[in-house]
Amino acid sequence: LFVSFEGGDGAGKSTQLRRLAEALRAEGRDVVVTREPGGAPGAEEIRRLVLEGEPGRWSPVSELLLFNAARRDHVERTILPALARGAVVLCDRFADSTRVYQGAARDVAAAGPLPAPDLAMADALHALVIGIEPDLTLIFDIDPEVGLARGVARGGEELRFESLGLDFHRQVRARFRALAERFPDRCRVIDAGGEPDAVFARVRAALAERLAA
Ligand code: C5P
Repeated sequence: LFVSFEGGDGAGKSTQLRRLAEALRAEGRDVVVTREPGGAPGAEEIRRLVLEGEPGRWSPVSELLLFNAARRDHVERTILPALARGAVVLCDRFADSTRVYQGAARDVAAAGPLPAPDLAMADALHALVIGIEPDLTLIFDIDPEVGLARGVARGGEELRFESLGLDFHRQVRARFRALAERFPDRCRVIDAGGEPDAVFARVRAALAERLAA
């Protein structure tokens, strides 16, 4: 079973992922926790190139290609082998983040005659080099003002992204919700507001529903 965790900053997806991993392991399941970009040696190198360099270092299309290169390594070297031996794979972000962040949500000036990155480009690349989707995608949904305040309270790396502005984060939220409508079979929107225990109960319910299907 391949489960991806998606959503904007401060929605608590990483915390919920850790909790679910603990709970499933306590039930005796083989659980692989992984994340994007990264999750395999080459993909982690690409992660450093993309997330640790100075912002704007890559053209948006190059960034989209790097995310796909990292994902291919991740799927081929980590995710598929884990699924083949029957593990549950819990992945912090997957292709939907690329559809949202590289495919659409950033304002991209046209680069002369070159095509601009958009959702169609992200979809086409995904179909060409990846092709698979998670069995279940949990989309953690929260008002960006609440999510960003959480990030600031935690002093985490979200501070870096806060500078992108509330409008950007509202757009990210809307685009994740649109993906949930586009892929209703695999996507479940999780209300990420309120206490972690309440959110976790929603996560368990979504997983139980998928396992029963
Ligand atoms: O997973 P996490 O919330 O730590 O990701 C932090 C940031 O990384 C996101 O808010 C986003 O700006 C960036 N990111 C991205 N494209 C992806 C995955 C993450 O731009 N495919």
